Amino acid sequence: MKIVCSDCRYVGNAVELKKGSRRKEIALWCCLFLPGLFYTLWRQSTDGKYMGCPQCSGTRFRTLKRREWKEFERTGALPS
Ligand SMILES: [Zn+2]
Repeated sequence: MKIVCSDCRYVGNAVELKKGSRRKEIALWCCLFLPGLFYTLWRQSTDGKYMGCPQCSGTRFRTLKRREWKEFERTGALPS
C-alpha cells in the first residue's frame, strides 16, 4: 500500500506497526510477570497491529492511487 503521510510528508509504502511500546512491554515484564505476558500477546495479535507511516509511525495518511504513484515515480512530486 502506497501512502502519503499528512504528518511528515513521507511518500511510499506503509508498514505494519505494533500498538503499544516496547519500553512499556519490558517495564511490565520486569515488574509484573502476567500483565507483561498479556501485553506481549496483545501486541502480537492482529488487534495490536495497524498500518502506518514508517517514518513517524503516524496513521494520518492518504492512500495513493496507482496513477498518483506512477506520477510520483516519474516526476518525484505528487500531482496536485
Ligand atoms: Zn509520517
